[in-house]
Amino acid sequence: MPLTGPTLPSRVGLVIGVANKRSIAWAIARAAALEGAQMAITYQNERLEENVRELAGSIADPLVMPCDVTNDAELDALFEAIEQKYHGLDFLVHSTAFAEREDLEGQFRDTTRDGFLKAMEVSAYSLIALAKRAAPLMARSSSGRILTLTYLGSERVFPNYNVMGVAKAALECSVRYLAADLGPLGIRVNAISAGPIKTLAASGIPGFSKILEVYRDRSPIRRTIETSEVAEAALMLLGPAGRGITGEVIMVDGGFHAMGI
Ligand code: NAP
Repeated sequence: MPLTGPTLPSRVGLVIGVANKRSIAWAIARAAALEGAQMAITYQNERLEENVRELAGSIADPLVMPCDVTNDAELDALFEAIEQKYHGLDFLVHSTAFAEREDLEGQFRDTTRDGFLKAMEVSAYSLIALAKRAAPLMARSSSGRILTLTYLGSERVFPNYNVMGVAKAALECSVRYLAADLGPLGIRVNAISAGPIKTLAASGIPGFSKILEVYRDRSPIRRTIETSEVAEAALMLLGPAGRGITGEVIMVDGGFHAMGI
């Protein structure tokens, strides 16, 4: 059997969306660092800073920066810092979503205009804003990779997912347009559609435990998935094994999406 080394040696990665140790973003950042990547990690606000810095302390020489994806000045400062420290970027992981609590309960028809725009801005437009800034840094190596996280609620109705489902549909469509746009620069753009995992963001969805129960009962693998399984699929897409894949939404949900009933 051939000896294999790390899959991301000296690659530079940026991960957006670490809140705590349960975050999907953290699982991916840690797994990528173990595969040899140098990591830039961001925190959304001061409330999360200490937590994120503590986590980042467990990987080698990370760049840790604030980044609220709705703040253009912070986005610009982030990419400037990456340029200065690493002189380029190989991959970007976008693992950020937000909807107002009141838009994640009650009737979908009661979604407010402000709530709709906010969910779309943080959960979908932010991928475009990040890709625009990442592209010049990635184009230099002609091998950039962009990855985002989505959910089956983009295609099917789940109780209380509401406006987030609409935002995820826009996000998945953006993956396809960005893949077409950035492919000629050597940049691949994909999404992982993860099954439900108990994280901070998920705890904002009323009735989330019920969704977990249904997945346990009906998924072909008869269990819910773990963040480590999402991270391993992410490594495949970010590493050499994913070089032929772009514009794709990969389901990492234990096969739940395949079931009719
Ligand atoms: P998480 O740990 O709560 O991560 C979500 C992150 O998005 C948090 O760090 C959050 O910060 C951040 N965020 C929210 N608004 C932001 C803004 N304006 N600027 C920058 N960051 C912002 O939850 P997660 O489950 O790992 O979620 C990561 C991604 O996976 C999301 O896109 C989610 O929709 C997707 N996903 C999750 C599941 C699941 O079941 N957990 C399934 C499929 C897909 P704050 O905590 O400060 O808001």
